[in-house]
Amino acid sequence: MQSIKMTGDYHTHTTYSDGYGSIEDNVMVAIERGLKEVGITDHAFNHIKGCITRADVEKMRAEVNRLQEKYPQIKIYLGVEADLLNFDGDIDLNEEEIKLFDYILLGIHKLTYGKGVKGSYKFNFLNFIMKTKHHRERVTDSYIRAINRYPIRAIVHPNYAVRCNISRLADACAEKGVLLEFNGKRIEYTDADMETLKKSKVKFIFGSDAHYPSKVGDCTLQQQFLLNYDFPLDRIVNIIYTE
Ligand SMILES: [Zn+2]
Ligand SMILES: [Zn+2]
Repeated sequence: MQSIKMTGDYHTHTTYSDGYGSIEDNVMVAIERGLKEVGITDHAFNHIKGCITRADVEKMRAEVNRLQEKYPQIKIYLGVEADLLNFDGDIDLNEEEIKLFDYILLGIHKLTYGKGVKGSYKFNFLNFIMKTKHHRERVTDSYIRAINRYPIRAIVHPNYAVRCNISRLADACAEKGVLLEFNGKRIEYTDADMETLKKSKVKFIFGSDAHYPSKVGDCTLQQQFLLNYDFPLDRIVNIIYTE
């Protein structure tokens, strides 16, 4: 059986959003697991269950800087998990706010404030109930608009909350150098999606999406999932593996 290990975990949460540990807790577990890099990516400003505030960002950056001095054996990043807000590809960060972070992850969640009440209804609420192909294409267009407008590093948990056209998304991501995630909490790729992804040129990233420090660097779900497929592991950018 193949064994897979992450070299860096770039998707972790802390008490600044809806996680249960501190930045230092995540860093310590990352070191224990032998990771070379770790990223803190709490939810940006429109996530309902728990998001950072604009005032938090400065505090988080100071903390990351302090911890980087204390733990020189690991590289620590301050990223953010942004939410897609509407069909125009708006996200819950503006151009100035984006510059405060080392990188941006982008996802769709079930509990997000959209742009005003009307915006929330038209995108976030309809994502719950619309299962049509037309809706899937519109959501895909929205992702593509966002990656063309913003420096998105990876799309996290694609197909969660609402399905998209994975083929078009993968092609657009491949062209822009945006990664697609294998998420540690939920993987919503169908067998057909996996076939499509295998044929595409897109690259992938593992993210634990740890909300508890103990989960940082954990890729049990991804490893189990991939056992079902003959998938080219060399297209996943942050793992080492033995066949
Ligand atoms: Zn997420
Ligand atoms: Zn997350």
